[in-house]
Amino acid sequence: MDYKSKIRTIPDYPAKGIMFRDVTTLMSDSEALAAAIEDLCRPFERMNVSKVAGIDARGFILGGAMAVRLGAGFLPLRKPGKLPYETWSESYALEYGSDALHMHTDGVEEGEQVLLVDDLIATGGTAEAGVKLLRKGKADIVAAAFLIDLPDLGGARTLRELGVEVMSLVT
Ligand code: IMP
Repeated sequence: MDYKSKIRTIPDYPAKGIMFRDVTTLMSDSEALAAAIEDLCRPFERMNVSKVAGIDARGFILGGAMAVRLGAGFLPLRKPGKLPYETWSESYALEYGSDALHMHTDGVEEGEQVLLVDDLIATGGTAEAGVKLLRKGKADIVAAAFLIDLPDLGGARTLRELGVEVMSLVT
């Protein structure tokens, strides 16, 4: 599947100078979406993934479908103020200011095999917060999977330096 041709690029969104990779066009295409879920899951089919952790919000769309495909449960890693039970949080830097991800404190069990998922990795700050949360819960991170990796921004390298395997469909 030629995923690149399915992803729309919006210049100057959400701020001037940013080329935003819009995956809603890929997700709205039934064949591309199904192929992406298959291709994202293939390396992990025999790895006994017991939970897919999806990052708010596009990671929920991919992660939910992947969890069903892999016979795993789903764990949401959410922006502040969204999870109802007790949470741990990890903040990360943005170009201007900071944001945070939260995870329910009972979201993973010690030694559980977890696959981290998001639509895109850029600087890696968001995914790194996810890694820290999962490790707080003593999960075993099988890998981190993304539709898109922007390698010039170094996020995949950062995750690998943290000992996390990284895969993506498009760079
Ligand atoms: P990072 O923390 O710099 O790696 O940014 C990745 C996070 O920002 C992910 O949750 C993405 O969904 C989001 N993001 C950053 N740039 C884009 C983009 O061009 N398209 C879609 N999402 C993006």
